[in-house]
Amino acid sequence: MATATQVVARPAIKQTQCFIDGKWVDAASGKTFETIHPATEEVIANVAEGDAEDIDRAVQAARRAFDSGPWRTMDARDRGKLMHRLADLIEEEIEYLAALETLDNGKPISDSRAADLPLVVDCLHYYAGWCDKIQGDTIPIRGDYFCYTRREPVGVVGQIIPWNFPALMAAWKWGPALAAGCTIVMKPAEQTPLTCLRMAQLAKEAGFPDGVINVVPGFGPTAGAALVKHPQVDKIAFTGEGTTAKIIQREAVETFKRVTFELGGKSPNVVFADADLDAAVAGAHFALYFNQGQCCVAGSRLYVEDDIHDEFVERLTAMNSDYRLGDPFDPATQQGPQVDKAQFDKVLSYVEIGKQDGAECVTGGKRFGDRGFFVEPTLFTGVKDDMRIAREEIFGPVMSVLKFSEVEEVAKRANDSPFGLAAAVWTKDISKAHRLAAELRAGTVWVNCYDVFDAAAPFGGFKHSGVGREKGAAGLDAYLETKTVTVAL
Ligand code: NAD
Repeated sequence: MATATQVVARPAIKQTQCFIDGKWVDAASGKTFETIHPATEEVIANVAEGDAEDIDRAVQAARRAFDSGPWRTMDARDRGKLMHRLADLIEEEIEYLAALETLDNGKPISDSRAADLPLVVDCLHYYAGWCDKIQGDTIPIRGDYFCYTRREPVGVVGQIIPWNFPALMAAWKWGPALAAGCTIVMKPAEQTPLTCLRMAQLAKEAGFPDGVINVVPGFGPTAGAALVKHPQVDKIAFTGEGTTAKIIQREAVETFKRVTFELGGKSPNVVFADADLDAAVAGAHFALYFNQGQCCVAGSRLYVEDDIHDEFVERLTAMNSDYRLGDPFDPATQQGPQVDKAQFDKVLSYVEIGKQDGAECVTGGKRFGDRGFFVEPTLFTGVKDDMRIAREEIFGPVMSVLKFSEVEEVAKRANDSPFGLAAAVWTKDISKAHRLAAELRAGTVWVNCYDVFDAAAPFGGFKHSGVGREKGAAGLDAYLETKTVTVAL
């Protein structure tokens, strides 16, 4: 690994085609699209632009691999061995994949190396371990019968992922699907297809049978929509915007597809005056600014108790002025660019909205540098619950600080949101912590910590933040059907 002073070399790009039925192929239309390095805005590769025809070929391949191919009938433990092998191959080239992620997404190399890729490896090992532990029940029904259940794979799954954690989102979706015995057609985000394509090559090298994993890069309204509409796809797993999820929901119902959604958030992060302040300041900063603020769980509504508000803001301000923005290949860089021009524009437009609505912009609020999509770490104080910057997902390095004075009040205000993905509480009072953990309407509540993710812990949203869960045993359930078998004795 590079030392703290060495800028990591840019990786060569190896896979840019569609991966269908175990082969690398151009899009049927011959079309390609550009993917860029967001720190410099340079084009780094032209990637096959799959559409309905390529999706159809991929679904047919996945269907064959599921219906008659070796995957569903393979011994569960051997399926697990293949998944472990894939995780090992990813780990062997973790430096390369981390650099590829940084090139395509713009995230700092220290994050892709220390967070994204290790979590990918861990997730695949975790689900590999499930393969031979998926079992049914025997059920004491009335009468002279023997009744039992079998847990069977749901079939061919279409998986559509966003750009903020490209490799990790692929792993969260592949892991449970493969463990359950499903076959996959994945459409990566158009901004960041490269690590997913490389992972498909590693799956081929690990020995996955043809057609088990297919990857079709392309755009949402063409490739993504074709996957959602395809009559031979049994389930769609989607991570992205709520507006996209609504389109998918409407289409998926036509063919009774199972759906799971991981959507956005506006997560409340509640700091009480009795918290360990050093930990809470560092935690609140990380909760929002990690990954350029492009986290669905970003702690973007920071509720700080009156007594400590001013000191808290001072300390966050100091952290922002020391925060290192720059070349994401430099291991000392803490914040890279937003993923693309559209996100950069969206974030800066919310800064203007915040100012117009009367909040005070204490740090940042501007572009950093003169090329690449960098936005300075931005902090708003004097934010009111009904301001748009406190209600809408910005998906960038823009923190809103709100004051509170009582537990009941803050719980109510924290829950006053259409979202319910994550929340956090910082306090030394154990009763207050558990009380709020129960009160908050969110799929994940962190106490005195933030962004603690583990493959074994279920993750997903209440309310508009999602449907279903990923990771853990709950994540596996989404890829299984239960069959009841009743035998007359
Ligand atoms: P997006 O919905 O535009 O795109 C996500 C994916 O959906 C991309 O692959 C895109 O090509 C595809 N897509 C777009 N339109 C489609 C259509 N009509 N049919 C099928 N597929 C289509 O979202 P985005 O802007 O890429 O991602 C950012 C959003 O995702 C944020 O709101 C964020 O909160 C959310 N997110 C949620 C989680 C989570 O786990 N809950 C994780 C990451 C991101």
